[in-house]
Amino acid sequence: MKYVDEFRDGSLARLIADRIRREAPADRRYNLMEFCGGHTHAISRYGVADLLPASVDMIHGPGCPVCVLPIGRIDNAIALAKEQGVILCTYADTMRVPASNGVSLSRAKAQGADIRMVYSAADALRIAQETAAREVVFFAIGFETTTPPTAVVIREADRLGLGNFSVFCNHVVTPAAMSAILEPPPQVRDGGSVWIDGFVGPAHVSCVIGSRPYEYFARTYQRPIVIAGFEPLDVMQAVLMLVRQLNEGRHEVENEYARAVTREGNLTAQQLVAEVFELRSSFEWRGLGEVPDSALAIRQRFARFDAERRYGIVYRPVPDNRVCECGAILRGARKPVECKVFGTVCTPENPLGSCMVSSEGACAAYYTYGRFRLKAAAPAAV
Ligand code: SF4
Repeated sequence: MKYVDEFRDGSLARLIADRIRREAPADRRYNLMEFCGGHTHAISRYGVADLLPASVDMIHGPGCPVCVLPIGRIDNAIALAKEQGVILCTYADTMRVPASNGVSLSRAKAQGADIRMVYSAADALRIAQETAAREVVFFAIGFETTTPPTAVVIREADRLGLGNFSVFCNHVVTPAAMSAILEPPPQVRDGGSVWIDGFVGPAHVSCVIGSRPYEYFARTYQRPIVIAGFEPLDVMQAVLMLVRQLNEGRHEVENEYARAVTREGNLTAQQLVAEVFELRSSFEWRGLGEVPDSALAIRQRFARFDAERRYGIVYRPVPDNRVCECGAILRGARKPVECKVFGTVCTPENPLGSCMVSSEGACAAYYTYGRFRLKAAAPAAV
């Protein structure tokens, strides 16, 4: 398959691994954060970490949409369905994220709430058109990749004059989260955060926003960023590019994913998002806490499609399960295997925290691809 098979070539992977080993000496540490859950998934699935020398540590970041959603927001969504009686539509992964009191959207549905899994924002709009007697709310989550489709349906609902459709907007933005992770003074591991030497930058997000927004971070925090695709060779090439930048004392934005990402990004999508949404002054992320300018709200012009306004939603922070390390994992301060209940009490069938729910979650990726086993028992799969 074009643009897939050639990026999974095992012999090329070993060639790049040799170069990384030669250029990343054993007496130096390279703490590299892959921001996206898609990269975490690729690293686990293809055994990329097993091909890297001990001096290179891949640290998993907060780029998993359902993982960063705090419990309080899911409680809000459940209350919409249970107490307001709306048809609540959302993406599949969101359904199983644990909320307060052992409930989740799936369990609330089993208890009788009208909660429906949809494949796209457009599905939610269609349900509203077909069910004129009921209120339909789309529980919108995700980074810059899922924001444009939500903007499209809000504009379409406006054009159609739909009175029974609204959006509970929980869209977040990547650059602010990177900033939150890099905020000085950075602490070494076992503190609240971890020292990051460089970033593997998002693939799909960067298709929308382009590489330009990262230039500020590279300059301000003096960290290299290499935007990479989600195939194993993309990730390995990005690691090599980061190692070279660090060895040469550079901190630039480089684009390994040039087959899809440009400096300017998708201007049409950016204009659409800017027309419908504005930045919130602050938003709580699981693991990162309140992050300024890190999420989007619906503009006044489209206020009648804003579920927060329509239903007077009040957000209340809710602490994570005491034993769950998702917060530290999302900051890069812990690995999934460092959680006491990983793979025992907490599994994909019975997730205690959000990182075990989605395939993009670090805990789910480790569990699914056996990364919790000893390296000797889990040889590289590439
Ligand atoms: S294994 Fe489960 S409980 Fe532990 S950090 Fe991951 S999601 Fe949370």
